[in-house]
Amino acid sequence: MPGQDNLNPQAEAHLHGPLFQNAIQTFNEAAAVIKCDPNIAERLRRPRRCLTVSIPVRMDDQSVKVFTGYRVQYNSTLGPYKGGIRYHHNVDLAEVVGLAALMTFKNSVLGLPLGGAKGGICVDPTKLSRAEKQGLTRRYTSEIAAFVGPTKDIPAPDVGTDPQTMAWFMDTYSQEQGGFAQPGVVTGKPVEIGGSLGRNHATGLGVVYVCERALEVNQMKMSGSRIAVQGFGNVGSFAAKFAFERGARVVAVSDVSGGIFNGDGLNIPQVIEHVKKTGFVKGFQGSQAITNEELLEVDCDALLPCALEGQIDVHNAERIKAKIIVEGANGPVTVEATKIMVQNGKFIAPDVISNGGGVIVSYFEWVQDIMSFFWDEADVDLKLKSVILKAFDSVYKMRQEKQIDMRTAAMATAISRLEKAMLLRGLYP
Ligand code: GLU
Repeated sequence: MPGQDNLNPQAEAHLHGPLFQNAIQTFNEAAAVIKCDPNIAERLRRPRRCLTVSIPVRMDDQSVKVFTGYRVQYNSTLGPYKGGIRYHHNVDLAEVVGLAALMTFKNSVLGLPLGGAKGGICVDPTKLSRAEKQGLTRRYTSEIAAFVGPTKDIPAPDVGTDPQTMAWFMDTYSQEQGGFAQPGVVTGKPVEIGGSLGRNHATGLGVVYVCERALEVNQMKMSGSRIAVQGFGNVGSFAAKFAFERGARVVAVSDVSGGIFNGDGLNIPQVIEHVKKTGFVKGFQGSQAITNEELLEVDCDALLPCALEGQIDVHNAERIKAKIIVEGANGPVTVEATKIMVQNGKFIAPDVISNGGGVIVSYFEWVQDIMSFFWDEADVDLKLKSVILKAFDSVYKMRQEKQIDMRTAAMATAISRLEKAMLLRGLYP
């Protein structure tokens, strides 16, 4: 990769993670397509600031455990940094850099006035009590507080975090600012403290809006189509529900415990009830147990990977049967797998558009917090639809014009907006 001669490979290990390298590969291909200014491209290949913090937490047994947290601020040309916070046992700096880069290109392609960032803590949140999670969140907030704020960097939920986590984040930040409520420091909050209606289901709804449009441009329609969803968290469960409500046959869903299949379609509201009672999708009545790997290879029209990165790679790309892949997760399909699948005639709606519903409604939440004037849910859903489909349509147009795949087209669109803005702002000092 250009610019590597400036890097010490050992010290710069966080720039060599698979997620970031995938993003950079797509970046390089897209930059060549639009003939991006080489000085701009050079700058866009590096995160601006990487914070690593130690987070000591008093556990319920009174012992102190120290966790490691990160906040990577990748680029702020277009506006304040924006991106979620992930709690997962695989989090490391390299992953957060990759996710922060994706946020930068996502916010750009979606046309939002926001830069890109991401945070995370290496922890398995399911092993913590509520009090431990609260302690962890408050201390992490405090450690990064000097670098965040409503005009600086606005976190949000991601894998392993939720509205309650955001409430603790908002409270801690506000207390440290003299106790004055600062709702605009974080999005994805509960509505009672300045959250937006429609934010909780926004990513899943956006996935389904994109899926509908992707089916349409491939001469198919949602009603009656067979859909498989990997992941049943905040993204996958809502995506499955909205697809079901629109008449799709959701034939398979999965979570960490494995998947369930029913060729006639699963009753998703009942699956959601089952998960509320038992914690997992497995054991749902009238379904056949499958593995997460089998789920990806199910015979269906549209596959929605809504779990984690790197799920479809060179090893299983050839076995994917779905014609349409809508990336609800960040980075679920590697660049190499993308090439194989595009060659095989698949249509991939890339993550930076497909899962953009979350950050689009985060942007709406931030705007509502600044105005202290809140919209109703139907309004939020409608505005989300218009922003996400506008992004899809402009990327689809570029795909047709330049004869490239959707991932490269989305990246090219994202880079050209950043390029224009960076050239206007110039290089400081
Ligand atoms: N974590 C989500 C994402 O990856 C949402 C980020 C946000 O709302 O700022 O897009």
